[in-house]
Amino acid sequence: MSRARDTPAESSDRLLLRRVPKAEIHLHLEGSVELPTLLDILRGRGESAGPAERARLAALYSHRDFLDFLENFRRLCSEIRRPQDFGLIASALSRRLQGEGVRYAEVFCSPSIFWRLHGIPAAEIMDAVCAAARRREGEGGPRLRFLFDGVRQFGVAGMEETVEWASACGAYDVIGIGLGGDEKAAPTREFAGPYREARRRGLRTTVHAGEFDGPRSVWEAIEVLEAERIGHGVRAVEDPELVRLLARRGVPLECCPTSNVRTGAAKGWDRHPIVPLHRSGAGVTVNSDDPAMFSTTLVEEWESLLTHLGLSPEEVVAIGVRTARATFLPEAEKEALVAEMVRAAADPGAPA
Ligand SMILES: [Zn+2]
Repeated sequence: MSRARDTPAESSDRLLLRRVPKAEIHLHLEGSVELPTLLDILRGRGESAGPAERARLAALYSHRDFLDFLENFRRLCSEIRRPQDFGLIASALSRRLQGEGVRYAEVFCSPSIFWRLHGIPAAEIMDAVCAAARRREGEGGPRLRFLFDGVRQFGVAGMEETVEWASACGAYDVIGIGLGGDEKAAPTREFAGPYREARRRGLRTTVHAGEFDGPRSVWEAIEVLEAERIGHGVRAVEDPELVRLLARRGVPLECCPTSNVRTGAAKGWDRHPIVPLHRSGAGVTVNSDDPAMFSTTLVEEWESLLTHLGLSPEEVVAIGVRTARATFLPEAEKEALVAEMVRAAADPGAPA
């Protein structure tokens, strides 16, 4: 869709969406790494970042399908080798989010990948990430909290390790866990033990399910893992009984519109499962997933609900507000953020 063809009404809707403060609950630190940051990381360890290297790294940002994306994600992670690299990444992410009006974000980090690839302990990663995030917050950046994301391919033992590390990293603003990777590598129900242990330790819980695996994975996420939120969950749309359950219980779905189109989880914007899920009353929220790897931003995700999916500006703001309410913030802080969003949406004279 060409922005040059925007009608005045569309332009004013876009401006409204831009000026509303935002929250995000499904955002991977590793998938936020833009090419210039990756090149800085290479230079930082004294490697060439010439044309050939640049072309090799640029190729990590286009994906044929979901498995190709996972392979690119793994290759990108293999370039992140030192704790200080994570400081650079967190600073860059914080600056970008600030520019988009994001006030608060819960950010996934997958320390089990870096432990396996480079032997970096989770605490060393988070020491750098948290220091950068707090410094940026002092400069007006968003407040960031972190969720350790396990990897399905690493099995139950890998998830147990992730829970252990998350529990030990509370001082670094790690508040919970998730589980990502290849959904077909292991059934969701197998991870019941680590999720029970996470709850026992007071960690908040979410799990990627129903992105590439079918509705059963979402059922298991809710009934067996007792996860508080579902990462994506869009394939729930295939099971009307599940959609009714999601709506009845108000389980937040961490939806990421562009990601689904780029990976093939959605068969195009005109057949995007977010629309029927939203119309059925399921708890759709709006997020950017891996913004660098999918060439998107949270602002563009909000706009895509309007321009590609045909929702009204009021519906988009309501989904943004639901996203803020689905955060793991204390209730009073959620409501303060929501009040700020509602005020900005209602004030036509506010600067965009
Ligand atoms: Zn994700």
